[in-house]
This record gives sequence, structure tokens and C-alpha cells, in this order.
Amino acid sequence: MEAILNDITKLKVDAIVNAANNSLLGGGGVDGAIHRAAGKELVMECRSLGGCKTGDAKLTKGYNLPADFIIHTVGPIWRGGYNAEAELLARCYRKSIQIAVAKEFESLAFPCISTGIYGYPKDKAAEVAVKTCSEELENSSYKISSLNIIFCCFGQDDYDIYQQILNKS
Ligand code: ADP
Repeated sequence: MEAILNDITKLKVDAIVNAANNSLLGGGGVDGAIHRAAGKELVMECRSLGGCKTGDAKLTKGYNLPADFIIHTVGPIWRGGYNAEAELLARCYRKSIQIAVAKEFESLAFPCISTGIYGYPKDKAAEVAVKTCSEELENSSYKISSLNIIFCCFGQDDYDIYQQILNKS
């Protein structure tokens, strides 16, 4: 697992994860950037998926992105922390990794799900992300070394938080 500071739409990996909304039809933030970079065919495929529940994840092709596939997941909206936000956020990371393992992907890049428009505190979200991903890699029968997980931070603040957590784990 590693953290990088980059625009996720620029990464040439097997799959990038999109922090989408329940409609899967595009939105602001990273979702908007991914749809713009992937092109119109993405929304056509997304329309056929019938939306996505919070904490669930669905796979599409990457179209014009350098990444081959996109795993769309819907993070929770932060409502103070007592509304199952941590469990729902953990489920986003778990489900995305399960799809990547099932497809035998070797590289998977996550944005900082829920920490933009959805308001999840950045440090708390990063703790959930790193803990869930390392647990899921250990639980899967997939060789840990076979899936490289990249936390793609868009701001220096997020990057610093991830570096600190990864360095102590
Ligand atoms: P959410 O609705 O889940 O909060 P946002 O897209 O608003 O989703 O924000 C999630 C995270 O994605 C934020 O940390 C934001 O800075 C980041 N982000 C926005 N654009 C990009 C991008 N092009 N590449 C990587 N991360 C991005």
C-alpha cells in the first residue's frame, strides 16, 4: 500500500475507484473529473447499472481513461459519526477490493472517499481506509503482494495524513 499525490484520472492502473453518488450518473468532485476524462460512453454504461447503494460498489470499463476499469462506490455522507458512517465507508473499501481480487487486478487506486462534498473528516476517513484495506488484503486468499493499493491524494493535507498512518503501521 502506498500514498501518492496526484490526479486519479491520470493513473495508468488496472482500476481506479470513483467516489460516486447513488445515481452513478456523475456529479462533482472526483466523480465529475472521472466522467469528464472517461467520456460520454461511461455514463451510458452507468445508466444500465440501476444506481448503487451506499457502501456498495460496481464495475465499469475505463473508456478514455488510462486506467482499464472504474470501480464506482458510494461513500456515506458524514452526519456526525453516529450514523454508521465508519462501517459504510469501510464497506466501500472492502467491496472495491473484493471486485479487484475477483478480477485479478494488480493495481487499484482509491481517492479519499467521502472526504470532499460528503464531509467525512479527513483523518478519520484515512484511518478507516488504511485499516480496512490491510485487513481485506490479509483476509483474501489473493497473495498480498499481487494487489498494489494506491491511496491517490488530491491535496497535500490528505497526503500527509496517509504518510503518517502508513509509516506507523
Ligand atoms: P465525496 O462526495 O465522496 O466526498 P468528492 O469528490 O467531493 O467525493 O471528494 C472526495 C475526494 O476526492 C476529496 O479528497 C477530493 O479532494 C478528491 N478529489 C477531487 N478530484 C480528484 C481527482 N481528480 N483525483 C483524485 N482525487 C480527487
